[in-house]
Amino acid sequence: MIEFQQVSKQYASTHALKDINFTVQKGEIVGVIGKSGAGKSTLIRCANLLEKPSSGKVFVADQELTALSASALRDARKHIGMIFQQFNLLNSKTVFENVALPLKLDHQKTDKILGLLELVGLSDKKDQYPAQLSGGQKQRVAIARALALDPKVLLCDEATSALDPQNTEAILTLLKKINIELGLTILLITHEMHVVKHSCDRVIVLDDGQIVEEGKIADVFAAPQKAITQYFVDSALRAELPGILQEKIFPAPAKNTIPVWRIYFKGHAAAEPIITQLAREYELNLNILQASLECIQHLTLGIMIVAVDAAAEKHQAGLDFLAQKNLKVEIIGYVARETL
Ligand code: ADP
Repeated sequence: MIEFQQVSKQYASTHALKDINFTVQKGEIVGVIGKSGAGKSTLIRCANLLEKPSSGKVFVADQELTALSASALRDARKHIGMIFQQFNLLNSKTVFENVALPLKLDHQKTDKILGLLELVGLSDKKDQYPAQLSGGQKQRVAIARALALDPKVLLCDEATSALDPQNTEAILTLLKKINIELGLTILLITHEMHVVKHSCDRVIVLDDGQIVEEGKIADVFAAPQKAITQYFVDSALRAELPGILQEKIFPAPAKNTIPVWRIYFKGHAAAEPIITQLAREYELNLNILQASLECIQHLTLGIMIVAVDAAAEKHQAGLDFLAQKNLKVEIIGYVARETL
């Protein structure tokens, strides 16, 4: 439904996109994640040619956008909805009028707009103005407006970045609902992995204008290949210690310190009594500093950060046991025994 073929974009001396190739199938939700400056905005703006690629081809719904005349492109864009971080509503118009903007208003269209407002859960707000709405409600209006022309594709440009966690969840749930009920193909960009975690089928990792990794969400979370992907996965799984504990971790062992391990569990291992076994059979006293468990596309993933209080010679046997169980372990530092 969306395809980039060897797309590059150069702004003066900045090579914002370098040889980008990917496909989004009909009905898929695909997330593009990257740090600030990675090229995400440029990429999504190339998907409807708001930004013209310096080279390469962009296809949407079997049409090569990069080959169209200006007027043909205007028509093609009617099949591509877009929502933005800052909602882009007209403050002088009501909710109803904002959603009506892409349509020429007549009686039949009124029913359509009321239907869209019902779909996004805003039927009771139709006569209100944007200033009277919360951020989440404003984004719902923007979504209804983006759907007014029955697009085949919805582009979401950091659509939840201005929202609190609760509204973020609600908007992601709404996008998923629209995807399922209308069969709409969705491409979204974000700098936060938790946004793609539950809403997307696949994720593409963008770094310095290049695709460095892509795959199904569960596969990427279970076995990230690149350090930057690991960073995003860790942030979404809350693999970092709270700040107050981080300050107490030393990079190297010292007198009276004990090691701190980060253990990654996945699949069946998350349900096994591995910590109990480490304590009973390997005589390791484990102080749990942080633990989280997530179910992502039917894959259970867990992270536990433990301080290992045991004689040094017992550590290796414990690490060997975890390796045997196929669990990844990192020694993230050392902590003074008395601070625990
Ligand atoms: P992201 O959305 O991931 O933060 P962008 O696509 O906005 O990344 O930017 C990618 C790179 O291109 C950055 O180095 C940015 O400074 C540069 N860039 C983006 N837009 C322009 C522009 N209009 N003119 C010049 N450089 C730009």
